[in-house]
Amino acid sequence: MKHTEVDVSNIHYALRSAHGAHPIASGEAESTPLLSECTDKLGRPLKDLRLSVIDQCNFRCTYCMPKEVFTKDYPFLRSASRLSFDQMTFLAKAFVRLGVDKIRITGGEPLLRKNLELLIDRLACLRTPEGKDVEIALTTNGSLLAAKARSLRDAGLRRVTVSLDSLDDAIFQRMNDVRFPVARVLEGIHAAAAAGLSPVKVNTVVERGVNESQILPIARYFRNTGVVVRFIEFMDVGGAASWARKNVFTSDDARRLIESEFALQPLLTQRANDTARNFEYADGAGSVGFISSVSQPFCGDCTRARVSSDGKMFTCLFATGSLDVKPWLGEALAPEALAREILARWRDRDDRYSELRGVCARVGSKKVYPTVRMSLVGG
Ligand code: SAM
Ligand code: SF4
Ligand code: SF4
Repeated sequence: MKHTEVDVSNIHYALRSAHGAHPIASGEAESTPLLSECTDKLGRPLKDLRLSVIDQCNFRCTYCMPKEVFTKDYPFLRSASRLSFDQMTFLAKAFVRLGVDKIRITGGEPLLRKNLELLIDRLACLRTPEGKDVEIALTTNGSLLAAKARSLRDAGLRRVTVSLDSLDDAIFQRMNDVRFPVARVLEGIHAAAAAGLSPVKVNTVVERGVNESQILPIARYFRNTGVVVRFIEFMDVGGAASWARKNVFTSDDARRLIESEFALQPLLTQRANDTARNFEYADGAGSVGFISSVSQPFCGDCTRARVSSDGKMFTCLFATGSLDVKPWLGEALAPEALAREILARWRDRDDRYSELRGVCARVGSKKVYPTVRMSLVGG
């Protein structure tokens, strides 16, 4: 896929020393109190923001952006409709005031967005109302990470998650469907670790009949490296046209496979809103996680809001509707107006699609609602 990228990896961030003075990213969040308690109808607080910076991608993972659907004529968002970094920062500040303490930058492929370091530089200045740093993370397919890891770190990124579904080139290339080699993603992972983006996490989507043979090789490869692998159940999200329950390789099966070679014990230190159930190797070789969105849904702890790169807020990965926040991003408007809109939307939230999926299957009904594209709102 053609994209016009300006490589800013060599720009040193003079901005970093000056960013406190940026009109939008100044430390305002610190001093401004919460509007009022921000919990949804099921009592879940708003803690995490997934911010998509682009809906395009240079991969065509069969479970996310199958080539038959995402053709070269596919109506991706026009670059003019994307939020600017100023608008994204303004938006992020409103979310932080409402309780968000973790922002994950995603896509599409976020590293295709030009000068992403400039956005990270601004977001890295945000503080919670209690004065704590807001955690800034990024999820990427790793294809451009080797070249960018250092500049992302210099801009203020602390953590990165890299998606990697196979160590076997033939399987990986069948899954990414653009013949992208494993070696270049591994280079990106090593560069991220060397740049201090730690702990680097690796996300592996497991699709039955496609890549379950890779679970043990991936687990073995990353033991003793400090990299934390998380095996993810294949989900029925928007792009996943081939999804069927029989193609889900469950976390329990993945864990049993790993335990056939290495003893695991549950990690007790777990954040309530952590999507993964984490285990450590009994021999001290590190840890591994399992994200069981299908077999053991975790909607009860879901504190995530998502915003697409054109400024639509979604309260669930499977939501049908969204709130267009763009009208509240004008410079003339006070941040309170935007925060109030988000608060009202969050308070009205009762999404729990993954829990309802099982109920629907039992009563023989189809999906409760159509799903938004994963590449629009990020994972
Ligand atoms: N392009 C980046 C990447 O691949 O890391 C970020 C966006 S991608 C949509 C975010 C995450 O969603 C990836 O880890 C990907 O593996 C996961 N994902 C996409 N489609 C999925 C599906 N059908 N089931 C489970 N996870 C999926
Ligand atoms: Fe692109 Fe990520 Fe989706 Fe793969 S999972 S097609 S890399 S957005
Ligand atoms: Fe959250 Fe929706 Fe996923 Fe449930 S289905 S965990 S509510 S994003």
